[in-house]
Amino acid sequence: MDYDFDLLTLGAGSGGVAASRRAAMHGAKVAAIEGSRVGGTCVIRGCVPKKLMMYAAQYGDAIREAAGYGWSIENPRFEMARWASAKAAETSRLERVYHHLLEGAKVELIEGWARIDGPHTVIVGERRLTARHLLIATGASPVRDSIPGVEDCATSDELLDLQSLPQRAAVIGSGYIACEFASILSRLGVEVSMFFRSRLPLRGFDDDLRTRTAAALTASGVHLHPGAAPTRIQRAGDSFMLIAADERVREFPFVLNATGRAPNTRGLGLETLGITLGPAGEVPVDAKLATTAADVHAIGDVTNKKNLTPVAIAEGRALADSLFGPEPREVDLSLVSSAVFTLPPLATVGMSESEASAAGHSVDVYESEFRPMRQAFIDGKEQTYMKLLVDASDQRVLGIHMLGTDAPEIIQSLAVAMSCGATKPQFDRTIAMHPTAAEEFMLLRAPTRRVEPAAARDA
Ligand SMILES: Cc1cc2nc3c(=O)[nH]c(=O)nc-3n(C[C@H](O)[C@H](O)[C@H](O)COP(=O)(O)OP(=O)(O)OC[C@H]3O[C@@H](n4cnc5c(N)ncnc54)[C@H](O)[C@@H]3O)c2cc1C
Repeated sequence: MDYDFDLLTLGAGSGGVAASRRAAMHGAKVAAIEGSRVGGTCVIRGCVPKKLMMYAAQYGDAIREAAGYGWSIENPRFEMARWASAKAAETSRLERVYHHLLEGAKVELIEGWARIDGPHTVIVGERRLTARHLLIATGASPVRDSIPGVEDCATSDELLDLQSLPQRAAVIGSGYIACEFASILSRLGVEVSMFFRSRLPLRGFDDDLRTRTAAALTASGVHLHPGAAPTRIQRAGDSFMLIAADERVREFPFVLNATGRAPNTRGLGLETLGITLGPAGEVPVDAKLATTAADVHAIGDVTNKKNLTPVAIAEGRALADSLFGPEPREVDLSLVSSAVFTLPPLATVGMSESEASAAGHSVDVYESEFRPMRQAFIDGKEQTYMKLLVDASDQRVLGIHMLGTDAPEIIQSLAVAMSCGATKPQFDRTIAMHPTAAEEFMLLRAPTRRVEPAAARDA
């Protein structure tokens, strides 16, 4: 049968663009369909603008600290509108870059919202397109119905487009997006209160990072309300009323709904292919990124595995290589490093202490906590925390965790060592680079404690 295309990609975000370009490079005839802006979440309303806002907050820290280093800076002032217009120009520039990348690879861009209409068929506006392979790369969006009344509150999408900052804000949630924006807003002068269900923020991260993140947020002025997610929210004029389980009402001029994200599957027509969604509304895929429908694959956030840009890109490229390249390959997601861009940031690769112990390892825990040189000089309070988890039986490094300036840059490099199976003696043999914070990872002499496997402990 003749098709219009070899590959039709639904969604031109991180994963969709990567897959489309790689497939075209292998000689496939490809079109990518995008309903919003090319570049997707990461470039337009995620990683990139978020980090640009973090940089804005970091300049505030630098200005405050500069006096201790001999600088006099008169009347510094942050203007959100100026940041917002510079940010809009930068995301538009990046969007154009993505357009050029698709053009350069000879991928046809089709603008509009795609709807699948049975095997090999997609409808976009008036057009009916067919392809040998369909790729679902439609990403995820903020959940807007997690709490009654939350639909009126801003999500990260709207926050990043604010023209002025509120004086006070509530952040609901405690995942990485909630923590990042709580930290950034508070550094930009907003009085922030965070409300969340659990005891500590950042579920899934190592507990020692979680407790220190909570302490760092508190130290930067964020009021934490663990175990206190509102049960409903009411609009009252320009204000929002957060109503707690005990009926206590708190009023805020601005509320950030950071209660989670859900895969973009609504209205996609997946039922015409017989695809049944998973419990979080995701498109289930196997190790080859194949859905239950023939010739239909899915990658990135819409599959709700590890919702990170590099994962979506790696999956997109692997899939294109498998479908159109010389030999199929799979993506190994067993060792994915990740960062949280709070101030200071944190980063992690490998197992958390509880995961390592639950997996049956006897774990030597090496830790270091210190005031970094740059802070000590100005009598700053900010601490750096480092943690190395080592298998006591064979000395293999199982996990590396850090909270402190440059943590994401440091952990990214150490992730290479971990993926090579690095051991503690190899860390010890590495000559340190001085004076750096990273050198502390080479200078961890004795474990602070040993954690036995969870099964042995619980027996
Ligand atoms: C505030 C925020 C901060 C983040 N920070 C980081 C970070 O620091 N590091 C990191 O690794 N990740 C971060 N992420 C996550 C990252 O952005 C995503 O993991 C990544 O963008 C996923 O790529 P994707 O290709 O799966 O989906 P997306 O990039 O979301 O692309 C999907 C595209 O599909 C389009 N689409 C959807 N439905 C249709 C349809 N029916 N027809 C046509 N087009 C459609 C959408 O418009 C979108 O452009 C962040 C996310 C957010 C929200």
